[in-house]
Amino acid sequence: MLVHICCSVDSHYFLQKLAQEYPDEKLIGFFYDPNIHPLSEYTLRLLDVKRSCEMLGIELIEGAYDTDNWLKSATGLEDEPEKGKRCSVCFDDRFMASAMKAKELGEDNFTSTLLVSPKKSISKLKESGDMLAKQYNLTFITPDYRSNGGTQEQNIVAKKDKLYRQDYCGCIYGLLKQRAYQNRVADELFSPISQQILPDSIEEKIALYEERYALEKSKQNYTIEKERFLNYRLKRAYISQKNEVIPSHFLPYSTLKKEYTRGKVQWRDEQGYLDRDGVVFITLAYYNQITRTNYTDIKALIYNPPNLKDELEIRAKIAKNPYNLSSIIITEKTLNGKIEIYAQSEIYEDIREIIKIVN
Ligand code: SF4
Repeated sequence: MLVHICCSVDSHYFLQKLAQEYPDEKLIGFFYDPNIHPLSEYTLRLLDVKRSCEMLGIELIEGAYDTDNWLKSATGLEDEPEKGKRCSVCFDDRFMASAMKAKELGEDNFTSTLLVSPKKSISKLKESGDMLAKQYNLTFITPDYRSNGGTQEQNIVAKKDKLYRQDYCGCIYGLLKQRAYQNRVADELFSPISQQILPDSIEEKIALYEERYALEKSKQNYTIEKERFLNYRLKRAYISQKNEVIPSHFLPYSTLKKEYTRGKVQWRDEQGYLDRDGVVFITLAYYNQITRTNYTDIKALIYNPPNLKDELEIRAKIAKNPYNLSSIIITEKTLNGKIEIYAQSEIYEDIREIIKIVN
């Protein structure tokens, strides 16, 4: 039987129940989810599905990540709520690819792990699955593993096996709506050109789940714990003088009271102080000296900055106060005269997972 897989939390439990109910069937997993945005989140969910299938001894096939076609089919349905028309189109798209794959492999049946997801309508999934099954002369299997405490059991299994639990369905439209409703930054969509790994970014989670995989391979005990912290994203920032933008680099956790300020800089002991908003300037030469780096210009620093932990240490050296949120800006030369500064940033409470080694 071909089993369309949406994510590990659903597939891990669903596949185990399915194997019990259909002991004579060879189950083949099919990860086909071009709805998942961005690519890094797709990679993360696939990584965890691979681990789960490996644990269960189930063959896994990865489908195409053809987002272009998925986005085309969702055109005009961007504002639909979850469980609305866009979701029906999304099920049709994923089930069509699954039915085609089942046919290609000579299978008679197919099903989907979406059926165990408490946020999905079983009747809509069945409607879509049955329609595609009819088209391809297959049977769409619709077991109910949610009722009689199934959802609770699924949660226990997910926790026990330390699965990656995403907190949005998958597409960009659902994500934006959900974050707007929660009044939260959609930080999944930030991907700096520097490729610096930001706190609680998808890239940080991929690194964490890869580390977990390596620890398991080396039979090292570990736990995954949660940490509450103050997160930060810089959305847009620049400085200018006489209408000309000056190359600059803003250290993490640089904020302004409003998005714009201007003033004059006074220099003391290698640091320039704007006469308002607590803004601090340092030159690239001084930055190189305190960080023992050798950047030749600001562009090189922007494209290849030290990692975030090192940049926070630089901030701590300059600002002394660990709760300091002043903008600290690096420029190539000592700036004098009137400077204009624009910085749009977000500081917000967040929670992230961390690995702890257990000896
Ligand atoms: S909310 Fe989920 S099911 Fe609905 S369209 Fe987006 S990814 Fe697909």
